[in-house]
Amino acid sequence: MMTITYEYGGSLYVNLTNRCDCACVFCLRHNGHKGSIYADDLWLDREPTREEALADLMGRELERYPEIVFCGFGEPAFRMDDILWLSDQMRERVEKLPPIRINTNGHASLILGRDVTPELQGRIDALSISLNGPTKEKYLEVTRPRDGEKAWDAMLEFTREAAKYVPKVMMTIVDKDLEDGEIDSCRQLAESLGATLRVRAYVSQ
Ligand code: SF4
Repeated sequence: MMTITYEYGGSLYVNLTNRCDCACVFCLRHNGHKGSIYADDLWLDREPTREEALADLMGRELERYPEIVFCGFGEPAFRMDDILWLSDQMRERVEKLPPIRINTNGHASLILGRDVTPELQGRIDALSISLNGPTKEKYLEVTRPRDGEKAWDAMLEFTREAAKYVPKVMMTIVDKDLEDGEIDSCRQLAESLGATLRVRAYVSQ
C-alpha cells in the first residue's frame, strides 16, 4: 500500500520520499520502522510520480485543510522539483488553496547542487527547518549528515536565503536532553537568520 497523503492534526501531509541524507538519532526510519502501523504505512515501496501525487491531492477537498505539509518519512527536498511543480499545479486548480509548508532538514540546495531558494517564492508559504542543536558539534551528533560539517553550513545558508523568499520560516528543536541556555542560543541563532524558533515536545516511540 502506498500512502501519499494523510491527515495529521487536522492538516494534510504529503509523503513523496523515504530518502534522506541524514541519520538522526531519533528518526523512525532506522529505529526499525517495522512494528509501527503509522510508520509502516509511510514506508514507500517506490516513490510516487508527481502525476500520481497530484491525482491523490486533487482527490482531496484541499480547501478544508488549514495547511498542506510536505513532510514524509524521509527528506522531502529530494523531491523539491516535484514539490514546486505540485504547488504550481494546485494553485492553478484550486482557488482557495491553504498555505503550503515543507518540513525539511534544510539541505535542499546541498542535495540539488544549486541555490533553490528563489524558486520557493510564491510557491511555498512556510518552512519548518530542523535545527536540532545550537552548535555545529551538537548538530552533527544528533543529525549525522552524510556530508558532515558542510551540511550544518548548508542548513544555515538555506535558512538565511529562504527567509528572503518564504513568508514564514521556522527552525525547530526537540525538547530533549537540552542543557541550560541551549534554547536561548537556538532562538538567537534562528533569529539571526531571519527565522523564528519553535520548540517541539519530545514524543517517545
Ligand atoms: S532529517 Fe528527518 S528523515 Fe532524515 S534522518 Fe533526520 S529525522 Fe529522519
